[in-house]
Amino acid sequence: MRKGRAPNPTCTENQGACVRIPCPFCGERDLSEFAYHGDASYRRPAPGTERAVSDFYEAVYLRANPAGPHTELWYHVSGCRSWIRVTRDTRTHEILASELAQQVEVR
Ligand SMILES: [Zn+2]
Repeated sequence: MRKGRAPNPTCTENQGACVRIPCPFCGERDLSEFAYHGDASYRRPAPGTERAVSDFYEAVYLRANPAGPHTELWYHVSGCRSWIRVTRDTRTHEILASELAQQVEVR
């Protein structure tokens, strides 16, 4: 007999502690199906400019760590394999919005 997958204790013992991300294609799914890929507001500085070294230093080492709503890139690795832009409150882990990353206008 094949054994089933072990339950995720954070989602079975306390339903309030379970973090679920709404995927635009698959619907609401458990956090374990996704891979975090960082800050979605990051823009690569232009290389070859006079300020390139300091711009890259700031982009790599001096990132913001906001307390509150934060936009993040997530990859639905165990689902539809879509890149998703999620707005999450870093204080409560509440998911405020999610959308396909390809539909997000670059600002
Ligand atoms: Zn999905």
